[in-house]
Amino acid sequence: MRLVVVGCSGSVSGPESASSCYLLQADRPDGGTTSVLLDLGSGAFGQLLRYVAPEQLDAVLLSHLHADHVVDLAALEVYLRYAPGGPFDAVDVWGPDGTDARIEQLSGEPSSGAEVFRTHAWVDREPVRVGPFEIAPTTVLHPVPAFALRITGPAENGQGTRTLVFTGDTDACDGVLAAAHGADLLLAEAAFEEDRDEVRGIHLTGRRAGELATAAGVQRLVLTHIPPWTSREKVRAEACTTYDGVVDLACPGVTFHL
Ligand SMILES: [Zn+2]
Ligand SMILES: [Zn+2]
Repeated sequence: MRLVVVGCSGSVSGPESASSCYLLQADRPDGGTTSVLLDLGSGAFGQLLRYVAPEQLDAVLLSHLHADHVVDLAALEVYLRYAPGGPFDAVDVWGPDGTDARIEQLSGEPSSGAEVFRTHAWVDREPVRVGPFEIAPTTVLHPVPAFALRITGPAENGQGTRTLVFTGDTDACDGVLAAAHGADLLLAEAAFEEDRDEVRGIHLTGRRAGELATAAGVQRLVLTHIPPWTSREKVRAEACTTYDGVVDLACPGVTFHL
């Protein structure tokens, strides 16, 4: 499987990137490709058009319902309904309780998303399957209901499976530690700087993302969700003080092969 960074800016879109959105794909034995999105934040829909035809999406997996993770569902809805060749088949959307009401709020029309999305609510630690992917949501620590997503899928080299863990938005907590255990790639948010942002219960810092990666024994750490007002290099340097493995910064258009 492979992970394409569509947007990686945190909290708001930035001059270099849309907000949270990642395209996860796996080739199937029948020659097709399964494509799922992790989040669909502000500005991400337009960037997504670089990588996949939206009607080819098999599912959208939402970490939580904050604006920087979901607002471009409204754009996807317009596309699926009105783009040439449409209306297209409904797309499954997994998210916290209230995802259907959130989509309605975004589109500004009552129940307008009903024909274009099939919404499903995450249940803590209850895996769901989309094609070759098994996705296990785990409740994490954020001001609204939020989930880390542990996704197991076929290795890109055809040998066995690999595990990707996306923290969504969270501070350090037992849930994200359990979710991240032994991951081949940990895609961890690191929105805060350790010596600047003292509030707890919202986001990781680079240092705390590195501590998580070490405690969970992951193979590789990719830092993401860094806002335009936060230093990417500072966050990366913090992570390197607490994790000895490879630390990368997510960038739009970069593909990670697992
Ligand atoms: Zn966020
Ligand atoms: Zn959030």
